[in-house]
Amino acid sequence: MADEFDYDLFVIGGGSGGVRAARVAAGEHGAKVALAEDDRYGGTCVIRGCVPKKLMVFASEYSSVPEEAAAYGWDLKAGPFDWHRFRSRLNDELDRLEGVYKKLLDGSGVDRFDQRAVLKDAHTVELADGTTKTAKHILVATGGRPVRPDLPNADLGIVSDDIFHLAQLPKSILIIGGGYIACEFACIFNGLGVEVTQYYRGAQILRGFDEEARGLVAESMRDNGIDLHVGSNIVEMTLASEREDGPQPTASDAAMGASVQQAEVLREQGKGASAGQSGPIWVKSTNGGEKVFDMVLFATGRDPSTKDMGLEDIGVQLGRRGEIKVNDYSQTDVPSVYAIGDVTDRVNLTPVAIREGMAFVETVFGGNPTPVDHELIPSAIFTQPEMGTVGMSEEDARDQEEVEIYCTSFKPMQTAFAGKSNRVLMKLVVSKETRVVLGCHIVAPHAGELIQMAGIAVKNKLTKEQFDATCAVHPTMSEELVTMRNPMRTA
Ligand code: NDP
Repeated sequence: MADEFDYDLFVIGGGSGGVRAARVAAGEHGAKVALAEDDRYGGTCVIRGCVPKKLMVFASEYSSVPEEAAAYGWDLKAGPFDWHRFRSRLNDELDRLEGVYKKLLDGSGVDRFDQRAVLKDAHTVELADGTTKTAKHILVATGGRPVRPDLPNADLGIVSDDIFHLAQLPKSILIIGGGYIACEFACIFNGLGVEVTQYYRGAQILRGFDEEARGLVAESMRDNGIDLHVGSNIVEMTLASEREDGPQPTASDAAMGASVQQAEVLREQGKGASAGQSGPIWVKSTNGGEKVFDMVLFATGRDPSTKDMGLEDIGVQLGRRGEIKVNDYSQTDVPSVYAIGDVTDRVNLTPVAIREGMAFVETVFGGNPTPVDHELIPSAIFTQPEMGTVGMSEEDARDQEEVEIYCTSFKPMQTAFAGKSNRVLMKLVVSKETRVVLGCHIVAPHAGELIQMAGIAVKNKLTKEQFDATCAVHPTMSEELVTMRNPMRTA
């Protein structure tokens, strides 16, 4: 291949989707492949998303261990959390993983260009060093990036990318948003001992998920000490030190340290913060309340990374938020240009980007046109407790057909024994007519692990009776998924 072009495939973006597509095209199909990445290899998931986030979840969960262990006869002393020690180990782990990604590419014979690439025409990319490369196919897998709301002084707030670089944890933080990232980091910071306030503009966090499940997550977050305000948003923000009439900061050393570091982060990113701008942040909310926080985190969504890439100039159609429009085979309006992952804003999850990459390779290099299957994707939100979900919410399902709801909420054995009041939820949404389980929703410790298994059954459209034919594993929380005899309600 690649007679008239430098390469059979040029991939732009070294995240999970791009790397998988590049190495499978090269390694399994013998294609001549190059990949350009202008940041760290591994992309959002490995470097500034799923992986460091999950490690922070683990770190934050240890804070409740001494209290629970005491009920089991242990005498564990809780010491302070050492952010520096954790961050240094975290960085080592990310370096290791980035190394693995590079090695996988090199081992598959993929040419790496550690620089930005933009499109010049349907078969040509231009690298930051001014050289151009031609390819029969170009795959755009540039992901997305967090966005701040259009608010004066929004640059004073951090975004999720910045969290892993903080030199010090703040004493207090305000988190704006009610999606995955906002809720996960509210729980993480809370577990690490930071005073957390969260504003969400809608009526209930985690919009789009099952009402009952997200209600229990919200209740648990409040019980765990998060000051969660729904129907609230930020309307004004400025450095507390710049306000004459407003509440003045009573910043502790820790708070000041955190704020100075926050400015450092912003400076590193070229976002214009100067040393004089560091300090606690005064915030006004939609309900008129005024408060000072050491840090503000905007978890207000992510936009596809398509800016200044030359996509529209060569005829690739972009959507309203800048996402690349593709067909079922991830092909754009320019037949030689494909796109996968968050840059297409379909289902923004790492395993989905990987599957899109595999389907692209199968279609283009395997000679087997393979549409991407976006149906019944299980996912987990790593709040505390976690929420695992697959299929339809009760609300969506009952709009479609008559359903039976099998649901139970109880205190799990492990923490009930320690005198804790937290509850878990196991819920099945079942079609009254076909008996197929349309949705499964779990709020519980390790719900992410549980929903992976339940996802196999729901994906394969098993019926409630087939669930029930499976013998329970006792004593577990998830045995309820096969032992709920009577519907709680029909809807
Ligand atoms: P989401 O789109 O999930 O959430 C954004 C939140 O910000 C929503 O609550 C939204 O409110 C709110 N918001 C948006 N604009 C404003 C504004 N101007 N002012 C105030 N609030 C605003 O984005 P995330 O950044 O949390 O996550 C992005 C994606 O990353 C997710 O959709 C998910 O696909 C993926 N992800 C997956 C994870 C996992 O699998 N565990 C973890 C983290 C991310 P409203 O609801 O009203 O629109």
